[in-house]
Amino acid sequence: MGVRRVPLALCFWVLLAASCAPSRGFTGVHTQDTEVTVEARDTGVRVALLTTFSPMPAGKVLSGYADYVQTRFIDHVRIGDKNVPVRWRVMPLEQSRESECASVFRFTSDDPPLELMSIWEADDGPGPVEHHVRIINRGSGAVLIPRQTSLAFSMPVPAGAKLESWWVEKGGGTPTPVGVHRTSIASDFSLELKSGPLAATEPRDPIPFVAVRDMREGGWYAGIEFSGRVMMRLHARPPAAGQMIDADFGLGPREDLYSRVEPGGIYDTPTAFVGCFKGDMDDCGNRFRKWVASHLRPPVRDEHYPLLVNNSWGSGMAVDEKLARSMIDQSAELGLEMFHIDAGWFRAVGDWRPNPKKFPNGLRPVSEYAHQKGLKFGLWVGWTQVGSSPGFREDPRRVVSTEDTSRRDWLSESLTNGWKPGDFWGETLCLADADAERWCLDLLRSLVKENQLDMLEHDQRMIVENCPRTDHAHTSSRVDVAFRSGEAYYRIYDALRKENPNLLFEDCVNGGQMVDFGVIRRVHYISITDTYDPLSNRRAFYDASYLIPPAMCECYIAQHPGKTDANFLYMLRSGMMGWCTIMLDTTQWTPRQHDLAKRQFEVYKTKLRPLINRADLYHVSERPDGIRWDGIEYFDPQSGSGVLLAFRGKTDQPQHAFKLRGLDPNATYELSYEDAAGVPSAASGQDLTARGLAVRLAEAESSELVWFRRK
Ligand SMILES: [Zn+2]
Repeated sequence: MGVRRVPLALCFWVLLAASCAPSRGFTGVHTQDTEVTVEARDTGVRVALLTTFSPMPAGKVLSGYADYVQTRFIDHVRIGDKNVPVRWRVMPLEQSRESECASVFRFTSDDPPLELMSIWEADDGPGPVEHHVRIINRGSGAVLIPRQTSLAFSMPVPAGAKLESWWVEKGGGTPTPVGVHRTSIASDFSLELKSGPLAATEPRDPIPFVAVRDMREGGWYAGIEFSGRVMMRLHARPPAAGQMIDADFGLGPREDLYSRVEPGGIYDTPTAFVGCFKGDMDDCGNRFRKWVASHLRPPVRDEHYPLLVNNSWGSGMAVDEKLARSMIDQSAELGLEMFHIDAGWFRAVGDWRPNPKKFPNGLRPVSEYAHQKGLKFGLWVGWTQVGSSPGFREDPRRVVSTEDTSRRDWLSESLTNGWKPGDFWGETLCLADADAERWCLDLLRSLVKENQLDMLEHDQRMIVENCPRTDHAHTSSRVDVAFRSGEAYYRIYDALRKENPNLLFEDCVNGGQMVDFGVIRRVHYISITDTYDPLSNRRAFYDASYLIPPAMCECYIAQHPGKTDANFLYMLRSGMMGWCTIMLDTTQWTPRQHDLAKRQFEVYKTKLRPLINRADLYHVSERPDGIRWDGIEYFDPQSGSGVLLAFRGKTDQPQHAFKLRGLDPNATYELSYEDAAGVPSAASGQDLTARGLAVRLAEAESSELVWFRRK
């Protein structure tokens, strides 16, 4: 036909900003993928979002759209019981601090005296642009601030576009049968997603990220970096109003939310991000995850990251010094890299002294023994949990107890008569109490130092959502309770990491509950589900690995019934696609299983781990269902090497072809099968992409690793 198509980006990705009303300044920031031009007005900021995948001239802002949503600033505060209107004035741009990677607009209000900043940040590499709002109370009395959105914007819908929304669930206690949510966007489309510090069972929380994808080309996405209660709202305007999707990201839900800001105090909204991508959700993830790894995740200093770990929970609460030493011996022999004591080492929940019956010499000799054997040493601490130990009388620095009346006001709930803590959970203290926050940081400091910890795992609820106390930093709003206790949790870990730059942090909140881009700024890996069978591990990994660097996606491997070698490898490999922690009593293994496992750990360290850290990841099957075949592909375009991790469920189909992604169609790839002896072969990139890589497995619940390398 010869009709030249206008690049989609030109019509779609321009998220416009300006209207005819006078404005006070423009500025822009960009990453390799995303460029944002910001217009500051007295009532808020508007953005134009441009993709750098298009030939759009940088910084060009179209005019004529009077109807774009802006990130509107709060229009009142509450002082005492009165609502006081706020009128912002944007400061001339020359008073704004600008640099290559950040742009800051400043606004002031004379009465009440407040200052506001709209802060835009962008990195050099791929990924989104970030925004948050900071409000400073310049007055002499406390003010109550209503919900300030983190980021609001509008996106035009290109005529004729076939759009869908896309998001993934947290793994939670057990991954649901759905996991990945795709909904086509019709004219009445409306989506409100809420995420909290404990994933709701039904409907399951999202990992706080949502994409709008044009099925033909690519799309845009946005998300929020916070572990408390947040919301993401997308709403299509009726077609007559101009085909727009309005978006709002911030704390939420909106109900009755006020936050107290003391004189001189600073209020920062959670940071939100927005970005553009080309291609499908794997293409999106391959750039987005690089940004998460380089920009959000704390620095990784361990050359073995992600480490292979042996966790004592395979024996439940039974761990003691003797068992720990024997597990360390076995871990070293098997080639594992960290020994990790789970719950069971302490006297009682909230009494964080080693149990003298189990560890008469404390944990230090165990830690030293692990180090002698060349292993790192990690420890589980449910440090927000309060028990009822009388030990607080002897050692109040190590023991927090409901019996201690001087600390009753740390608790977020009143105790019912006859309340008793569990073996490893109790009442959660509210970190928005300044004394409780200090106590937790001191406790962790001393545990890390005395036991020479290389890794600290937290478990149980960290962030409370209900607290009736009026002397804590929060108001009575549930959203604010989670906001302020979440901020305190972050401060504790930020301080601890600054003091211990080599310390690794594991985020476990009953497994898979707190999976978000705020906690990712504080931890090196995340337990992505609390169910440890092969199918649950693969489902949780399938979902989380779209958005979270696979090295951070931790699967615990628990014993899974199976008779054959192939079943045993299927169990191990289902948890070896990212961060791998085994939670198995290895003394129960046969010598044959021991040899098989040792070989797998060697393969992980030498061949798989470099790909987990570096390679692109592709979901080359439907989401696992335990019946069909499923698979994950890693491919590193730089070295031209990759692997297909193939799993056969209960199906009676002995063969399946996986269509690989990312390969050079003109190159030839050498193939080698980890298990199937004697079938190394070669195929063209074109063949592997179009016809697929065939894998043959004789047994149900079995697996194969197929390595490929460009010739
Ligand atoms: Zn509280």
